[in-house]
Amino acid sequence: MSAKVLVLPGDGIGVEVMASAVSVMQKVASDAGLPLAFTDGLVGGLAIDRHGTPLPDDTLVAAKASDVVLLGGVGGPKWDNLPTAQRPERGLLRLRSELALFANLRPAILFGPLAAASSLKPELVADLDILILRELTGGIYFGEPRGIREENGERVGFNTLVYAEHEIERIARVAFDLARKRNGRVCSVDKANVLEVTALWREVVTRVHQAEFQDIELSHMFVDNAGMQLVRAPKQFDVIVTTNMFGDILSDVAAMLTGSLGMLPSASLAASGKGLYEPVHGTAPDIAGRNIANPLATILSVAMAFRYTLNAGGCADRIEQAVARVLADGIRTADIAAAGEATVGTREMGEAVLAAL
Ligand code: NAD
Repeated sequence: MSAKVLVLPGDGIGVEVMASAVSVMQKVASDAGLPLAFTDGLVGGLAIDRHGTPLPDDTLVAAKASDVVLLGGVGGPKWDNLPTAQRPERGLLRLRSELALFANLRPAILFGPLAAASSLKPELVADLDILILRELTGGIYFGEPRGIREENGERVGFNTLVYAEHEIERIARVAFDLARKRNGRVCSVDKANVLEVTALWREVVTRVHQAEFQDIELSHMFVDNAGMQLVRAPKQFDVIVTTNMFGDILSDVAAMLTGSLGMLPSASLAASGKGLYEPVHGTAPDIAGRNIANPLATILSVAMAFRYTLNAGGCADRIEQAVARVLADGIRTADIAAAGEATVGTREMGEAVLAAL
């Protein structure tokens, strides 16, 4: 049976980078004899223009029926003045929650030839390959009660940081499973010295490790130290697993170690293994429609789809090796080129990856 892939290019450069990524996905799947059935859908601003909603019903139905959803990006100045509830981003947020995507994978990979783009010394980051796993559907961003109320003549704001054992167990299992496909090490990040809920987090992660994953090396780190270690010696990590808010912050820190937004893929997984794969960057309205956007973040997101949903790690390796080869050959889009270096466009970069395959 064919695996189902829903392609949602979205807005701005999403449309341009997705074209390259889909060509790469088709080639690699066909070479591997892996049947994939592709459909297209609308999401974001274009969906608002055509159907008056950022997530049309048929897109949601198709997403629920798909194994892999590939998304380019949503949003742009044309839709910036709409009320919050009608904006393009709402479509993406609703898609994430309807698909129950509780595990957010943000790799920070720095291909050797791009090490000079980092704000850290090249030797600290060259060939960096770490993975931050962020819990995505719980914690303080969703906890109740929340709000702002009057107390003793002044306003008081409050949120609730809450995790149930089953939420911690399932994200811990994903972390250990990922480590098994990588270098066998998990660092769980918490603030167990101050917050009871993260003391429970540490206890449950340890319990899951003892019961099911003793082949994996587990360590624990307080979040303040983890922030420091990420900029001091980032290569010490393999998989970092943490709560929604800590993961939000640490994954952006880790992303910036690589210095290039156009290179960063991401995945969000449901319990079934179904996943939404998208570049970390947005729709880049400043460069949209000019064939200069870097398609590699989206192409690397396709590699993640092969590895984590389609269980075809060999296909993922091929794509990552092709990207490494293209970079080693000095082929650069404008965002990753050094001053004075020659550059290629979006389509040409996609073709270079296809040729390297
Ligand atoms: P952005 O990521 O779109 O752009 C930030 C900067 O990085 C811009 O200068 C852009 O030109 C550059 N850039 C981004 N991706 C690039 C690529 N592949 N190649 C070359 N350069 C690239 O972020 P922003 O400017 O804050 O947001 C623009 C729009 O994107 C907004 O409407 C925002 O809401 C939306 N957005 C969407 C998502 C998403 O769909 N997941 C994420 C972030 C932002």
